[in-house]
Parts: sequence; C-alpha cells; structure tokens
Amino acid sequence: MSREMDKPLISLHLVDSDTSLAKVPDEAPKVGILGSGDFARSLATRLVSSGFKVVVGSRNPKRTAGLFPSAAQVTFQEEAVSSPEIIFVAVFREHYSSLCSLSDQLTGKILVDVSNPTEQEHLQHRESNAEYLASLFPTCTVVKAFNVISAWTLQAGPRDGNRQVPICSDQSEAKRAVSEMAIAMGFMPVDMGSLASAREMEAMPLRLLPAWKVPTLLALGLFICFYAYNFVRDVLQPYVQESKNKFFKLPVSVVNTTLPCVAYVLLSLVYLPGVLAATLQLRRGTKYHRFPDWLDHWLQHRKQIGLLSFFCAALHALYSFCLPLRRSHRYDLVNLAVKQVLANKSHLWVEEEVWRMEIYLSLGVLALGTLSLLAVTSLPSIANSLNWREFSFVQYVATSSGGKMGSGSGIPEFQSQDPHLPDQTSVLGSRSFCCSLVSVSTPYGHREDLSWTR
Ligand code: NAP
Repeated sequence: MSREMDKPLISLHLVDSDTSLAKVPDEAPKVGILGSGDFARSLATRLVSSGFKVVVGSRNPKRTAGLFPSAAQVTFQEEAVSSPEIIFVAVFREHYSSLCSLSDQLTGKILVDVSNPTEQEHLQHRESNAEYLASLFPTCTVVKAFNVISAWTLQAGPRDGNRQVPICSDQSEAKRAVSEMAIAMGFMPVDMGSLASAREMEAMPLRLLPAWKVPTLLALGLFICFYAYNFVRDVLQPYVQESKNKFFKLPVSVVNTTLPCVAYVLLSLVYLPGVLAATLQLRRGTKYHRFPDWLDHWLQHRKQIGLLSFFCAALHALYSFCLPLRRSHRYDLVNLAVKQVLANKSHLWVEEEVWRMEIYLSLGVLALGTLSLLAVTSLPSIANSLNWREFSFVQYVATSSGGKMGSGSGIPEFQSQDPHLPDQTSVLGSRSFCCSLVSVSTPYGHREDLSWTR
C-alpha cells in the first residue's frame, strides 16, 4: 500500500510541461540535434520536456551550452552524432556541406531535415533541401519533418499553434520512428509519402493564403465597380444635374451602400457553381465525370467567397450603426425640425414608415446572426468538432430560417414618403442590409464541397 502511495499519480514520462499526455517509451531514445540556433534550442526544450534525452552538436559548445535546458547535453558535433539513431539537422542548406566531415559517424542513421528555403532559394534549386541532404549523405536515411513548425510553436507547445507535422521519407521505418516522436511531442504526423514530396513540403511555409487570392481579388473588383456606380448615382449625378455638393458621402455613405451590393453578388456566386454543377451532372447523366477546371476551382473557393460575403455584410452592419453619428445626419435632423416648426407641424409620425423600419432592423439583425452561425461553423476547428448530422442540422436551421426571412419580407427599396425626412435609404435596417443576408443555403458547406469536387 505504502509503495502504491509513493508512486506519482501521473508518470513523469507521460507529462510534458504543458500539453501532451504523450506516451514516451520507458527507455527514452537519445536524440541528436546539429546546430544551436533558435530552432535547435526550441526543439531541445520540447524534446526534453517530452521525456527524450537530447544531445546537441555545436561548433562551439562552450558558447552555446548556457542557452539550452540543463537536461540537454551540449557538445561538439562529432561527439553529438556518435550515439543517437535519430539526428535533427537544424542548420541552413548552405551549411550542409560543412557537415560532410561527419559522414562516417552518421552512416546508417536517420537524419531529420527541418530546413525551409527562402522563396528565392526555392525557385533557384530544383531539388529540395532534403533531397540535397540525402545526396550528400547516401549512407543515411533522410526524413523531412517539422519544417512547418516554427521555433515559437515548439517552445510554446502545440496547444498554441499548428499541430500538424507533415512527414516524408523513402523509408517507412524511419518515417514511423519520426512520426512516433512527433506524437510523443504532442504533434500530429501527416504522412506525405516519399522524399519526393519534400519540395512540396518546403513550399508550404512560403504560401500566402493561396485559397484566398482569387476570392479577395473578386471581392475587391466588385467593390470598385459598385463603388464607382454608387458614386456616379449618389454624388456625381446630383452635382452635375442639380449642383448639389454631396461629396461628403464618399467615405461613409457610398461605402455603406456599396458593401451590401458586394455581399449580395458574392453570396450569389457561392450558390451559382453548385447549380451549374448539378445541371452539368444531370445533362451528363453521371456524377463520375470531372467538372471543367474553371468550375472545379470555383466550387473549391465557395467557402472563401461566402466568408467574404459575411465580412462585407458585417462591415455594412457596423457602418450602418455609425450613420446616425455623422455630423451631416445631425444637421439633417435639425433642419427637418426647423422645417416642421416653420410649417407649423407639431407631430411627425408615419405609422407605415415606423413599422417598416422596425421590421427591417429586426430581420437584418436576425439574418446577420444566421450568417454568423454559418460562418462560425465553417471554421475548420469548429466544423471538425461536429459530426455530419450536426453540421447538416446547423446548415438546415440557418438556411431555412434565412430563406423564410428572405421570402417573407420581400423588402422593397426604402424611400421615405416624407420628402423632408433625411436620407434614410442607408440607415441601419435598410433593404440591402436585410436582403443581403437572407436566402442563405449552404454556402460554407465545405463537406459538400468535397463531395462535389471528387
Ligand atoms: P540559426 O538560429 O541561424 O541557427 C543555425 C545554426 O546552424 C547555428 O546556430 C549554427 O550552430 C549551425 N551551423 C552549423 N554549421 C554552420 C556553418 N557552417 N555556418 C553557420 N552556422 C552553422 O537558424 P534557425 O532559425 O535555428 O534555423 C535552423 C534550421 O531550422 C534552418 O534550416 C531553418 O530553415 C529551419 N527552421 C527554422 C524555423 C524557425 O522558426 N527558426 C522553423 C522551421 C524550420 P553552431 O554555431 O552551434 O554550430
């Protein structure tokens, strides 16, 4: 009994400093690291806290030893690579050749290449860094891994950053050993196949939101077109025809009128490819033919287009809330009051206008809430936590309530029937705010996207 009590509740091997309850073998293997830079330091910290024995190889161990956790052994490169079976190469590609003097000691060992090229280097070299390392050390097995994990994520733990670690190698045993190590460190290995995939893996950190480029350009293009149209209609035309100076509308009012137009069109562009794809499949009488490339790309971008539509709608809501704060709006109200007094009118109340505005506002807020729900459930972390039935349920509830709001309201262009009233077409609850957010079916159905694109 007393022996039982002496045991810690959680085995030391199972605890790492912050996150993973990863299982490390009782005989924790020794892991080598070549290099003593930022990445090497963070990697050593994570490995030590995950229960591994770490030996770091540096050209100048005396200078760098103090920067590493005390549990890590920092020594010369030759000594560091002598005993571990797995050695991380945390140096830049241009210095790989300086490690050739270690060839004999490295024979038969697993070298983990963590390097990332710069954009220029990536274009310049046709072979990946990992393949280059493999050509320098033909007697070793090279595994490409951890290059997408930053030193900061390694240090902070996977709880606070990307957890996926793509891994590739020509030897499955070596790949398995590194994958187990990644799991023990709290990461999620993703098998990328042979070492030929290393080039693709090295391109990963260089990508800048690739899926967002076309949708963002599309949204910008639409914004410019609609802004130009609204500028001509609301500012230029009154100026030319009636000599009215309405240029003050440019920063807020015209932007606010433009945003829902963009949101509308983007939302329709989310649905259109689904309809086109369905029509194509019906015409072909089969779903086993590939869609044309342009349609395939369009289908794959629906989620981003839908989220941009949501972004525009949300901005429109914010702008609309700010409209009454404008100085011009206050002047309009005061002028209206003065006109009322001069016309000897004491009570201004148009029942129909009042009701219409109340309904616009309510539907607008409900529709924005619905669109927010769809947008939130489209985020991978949330979508992945829902099963297919839950996901469909959220889509169904959102779309059916959105559809009812849209078809039931049939909201016309709001025009004040009192010519003295200030411009109310763009006040919160305007037709555009409501209508842009309705008729939402499954724009963010990325699971459906997959079934379409397969
Ligand atoms: P760093 O801070 O500049 O460290 C590079 C290390 O390489 C030096 O500390 C040096 O250690 C060692 N080295 C070995 N031979 C060398 C030579 N001939 N000349 C100069 N240095 C030599 O770079 P890092 O940020 O740690 O990056 C190391 C590798 O990890 C790179 O390939 C990088 O692409 C990759 N990586 C880094 C990150 C990150 O967030 N930093 C993320 C993913 C991947 P000694 O002087 O002790 O020998």
